[in-house]
Amino acid sequence: MIVPLLDLKKQYQEIRSEIDDALRRVVESQYFILGPEVEKLEEECARYLGCRHTLAVSSGTDALLLALMALDIRPGDEVIVPDYSFFATAGVVSRLQARPVFCDIDPVTFNLDPGDMKRKITSHTRAVIPVHLYGQSAAMDEILRIAAGRGVTVIEDAAQAIGASYRDGRRLGTLGRAGCFSFFPSKNLGCFGDGGMITTDDPELFEKMHILRVHGSKPKYVHKMIGGNFRMDALQAAVLRVKLPHLADWTSGRRRNAAFYSRLFREAGLATAPGKTGFSVADPVLLPAAVYESETGSSAGAAQSPLYFHIYNQYVIRVRERDRLRNFLSEQGIGTEIYYPIPFHRQECFADLIGAGKAACMFPVSDAAAEASIALPIFAELSEEQIGYVVKKIEEFIKSMR
Ligand SMILES: *Cc1c(COP(=O)(O)O)cnc(C)c1O
Repeated sequence: MIVPLLDLKKQYQEIRSEIDDALRRVVESQYFILGPEVEKLEEECARYLGCRHTLAVSSGTDALLLALMALDIRPGDEVIVPDYSFFATAGVVSRLQARPVFCDIDPVTFNLDPGDMKRKITSHTRAVIPVHLYGQSAAMDEILRIAAGRGVTVIEDAAQAIGASYRDGRRLGTLGRAGCFSFFPSKNLGCFGDGGMITTDDPELFEKMHILRVHGSKPKYVHKMIGGNFRMDALQAAVLRVKLPHLADWTSGRRRNAAFYSRLFREAGLATAPGKTGFSVADPVLLPAAVYESETGSSAGAAQSPLYFHIYNQYVIRVRERDRLRNFLSEQGIGTEIYYPIPFHRQECFADLIGAGKAACMFPVSDAAAEASIALPIFAELSEEQIGYVVKKIEEFIKSMR
């Protein structure tokens, strides 16, 4: 059986006629950059997310960069980021000649550890970028409280978290001063190329980002500031407008699949309680745990938690002998990926921030995650047979190791 990590063809088949109509509409209009499609997408996303302003941009990376530019992040400023994320979270800080300051992560959720964040705040700290990794909220209450107490601005990296929510159902990406989303094709809401979105409730910040999106020009050809080309294409907006109304269904599919995986792993005796952080002999697989469970001690339903609505952009388990398992699964036709194999503090480009020979032991939780984590196929259209096959093959591998 073949189980790819992600198969976007099935999703396209489901909505093919709607998509093709939308693409034709844009092509016939010959209006390709920004314009009415993009404005309608911005309105629809603002309504969906429950925020005052949204700005459609060229990518998730550019959303982060533009938010930092609008906050006037400059050389010498420090911006706190988790040590374990996609490169863009830290890369955008360095591109402004500011200093990314890495924090270790929470061993259950893989998200920014608020305790480490608190220790790393200095008089130069201007912002913190919590990432809602894999589609699950970072500890936003604590992060927002610590940041507010020290005058630090919170920019959420919600690239993997569209549709996820925190307490009282508030959508991720609307809790900080600005929220950044990516519409890269593998995200839960993906376009047919690159795209991104910034949210904010702050009208002044919005106005500034709006101007910076088009080279800092307002009116046209008059520049009070230096921006860039951060514009979204109308074709991408048209695709996203077709997809947005389907997002809730696709999210349900991912959550159903996540619950099914977790049930099968437990039934096979490979995993017990979620929320555990270390391996025991009886527990060869650590399941992804929802924050809710680790707080309440309930194992009833990570996937059903009403407080922390996890959208499973990725379903990431931790195992020993991860690389050997990955090769084995690949031979069995099962696609997997490592998000992420090298934490920021071990990247060569950041070596001068860390100091020679200091990388070892600085971020033990992030190092452990990089060594043991593996993402399994989780997209909505997977069949129960496919999920059963993945679990069976993992069980087979673990038994062969004993
Ligand atoms: C995908 C992603 C980004 C960057 O988005 P692009 O649209 O690929 O530029 C940033 N941060 C995180 C956590 C991501 O997963």
